[in-house]
Amino acid sequence: MVQVCGLDVEPIIGLEIHVQLATRTKMFCGCPLEFGARPNSRVCPVCLGLPGALPVINRQAVELGVQAALALNCSIAELTKWDRKSYYYPDLPKNYQISQYDLPLAFDGLFEFPIDDRIARIRILRAHLEEDAGKNVHDLPGCSGIDLNRAGTPLLEIVTQPDLRSADEAREFAVQLQRLVHYLGVSHADMQKGHLRFEPNINVRIHRDGQVFVTPIVEVKNLNSFRSLHGAIAYEIPRQVEEWLATGVTAATGNKRNRGWDDTREVTVPQREKEEAHDYRYFPDPDLVPLTVQAAWVAELRERQPELPLCRTERFISEYSLPPRDAHALVEDRATADLLDHAAEAGGDKVVLGKHFLSLWARFANERGTTIAGLRISPGRLAELANLVATGRINATAAAQVAEAMLANHDAPTVLAEELGLMQSRDTDRIAAWVTEALAANAAAVQDALANPKKARAARGFLTGQVMKLSGGRADPKIVGELIDRALAERAGA
Ligand code: ZN
Ligand code: MN
Repeated sequence: MVQVCGLDVEPIIGLEIHVQLATRTKMFCGCPLEFGARPNSRVCPVCLGLPGALPVINRQAVELGVQAALALNCSIAELTKWDRKSYYYPDLPKNYQISQYDLPLAFDGLFEFPIDDRIARIRILRAHLEEDAGKNVHDLPGCSGIDLNRAGTPLLEIVTQPDLRSADEAREFAVQLQRLVHYLGVSHADMQKGHLRFEPNINVRIHRDGQVFVTPIVEVKNLNSFRSLHGAIAYEIPRQVEEWLATGVTAATGNKRNRGWDDTREVTVPQREKEEAHDYRYFPDPDLVPLTVQAAWVAELRERQPELPLCRTERFISEYSLPPRDAHALVEDRATADLLDHAAEAGGDKVVLGKHFLSLWARFANERGTTIAGLRISPGRLAELANLVATGRINATAAAQVAEAMLANHDAPTVLAEELGLMQSRDTDRIAAWVTEALAANAAAVQDALANPKKARAARGFLTGQVMKLSGGRADPKIVGELIDRALAERAGA
């Protein structure tokens, strides 16, 4: 509930999201999907809608659709079919779009994500496959053009129940969904290329004097950024309240409307009145057979489904002791997240591996303009380096030097640490000699360590530092500490 014009207002928001699937070819023909190719160079009789050309279903599109739907906890239809959605627009050569009307590929899902210390649970009404239209081009001098390269591109349209309650929640849903489909490889999910397009349906429940007034639903068309999605919803909520105060029109007395988003003025603007479903004259496409989705195939896809990003982020936080923000960033790149898991499986110390991935490996990857996985170091080597640190055989500074050497010549870290003289000395006789030398040279500190409670701690630290200095930084600090304690205890007893 929010306050608008002194009234209690409850926003009701549903989302329709068109996700471009990462198939090699189009939904119903063999034309390749290529962004930025010369206009009308990726077309054929099918996607041009030429007479007599027959569509053929792209199996990969169905597979990607099922994968996304499973991740959204949807039920998968055993029988689904194709329908024509008729309307006229210059970039739609057939004058109809092939879509799915009454038997969608998937339905009844649930998507959960964390927001503001709680879990949002958004029900998914349905997810269906369809083809995209082409593009009208308006940047030519004196005329408009039509580019049909995009016509026939496979889309998964995901429709939520009206379970979202704020612009923030809708934006977070969109962000998490983008992350999910990218992670699954279902879509390249490149916002710049329009791979995700959002259409929020927004209205509000206004509470006044014990009565509830519901405003007509407004659908904002074709939003292609998280910012415009958030902006359009945040703008619509007070606008609808003001309009109701001025006109008294409610959902009972007014129709659903379409509005567009003006990105420069950051306002929604009226568009043509929304068609009703019957205006589209949906009917089964006679050129395509209904599609039977084999239960065994769905089971196999379910089996192959990877751990999803939100679960993996949670696990990374606890398993590798990573700060939430870093865990989130690591999981964004699936290959790198896999590499971290493989290094742990190879026996690497998890906490040190986590630290290495966040600091040194991330830095080297950055410097080389790649990801950590792109550095091409094997999980075994990563584990070996982590364990050299975990067991105290090299220190953190030495680890960075060894890592750099690993990138240069791909030798094993233990070999490199030895060659570079970075292995910490665990030779107790040598360390004992350094301890004797340090204690002899610093009588005052020894005195403090033994008999001055206020300074004992600092004095012991100082002596440790002196021994490390004598060893050139190579003495194992744990052994140094033990030997200093032993030497001091001997003197105390003497
Ligand atoms: Zn084609
Ligand atoms: Mn659609």
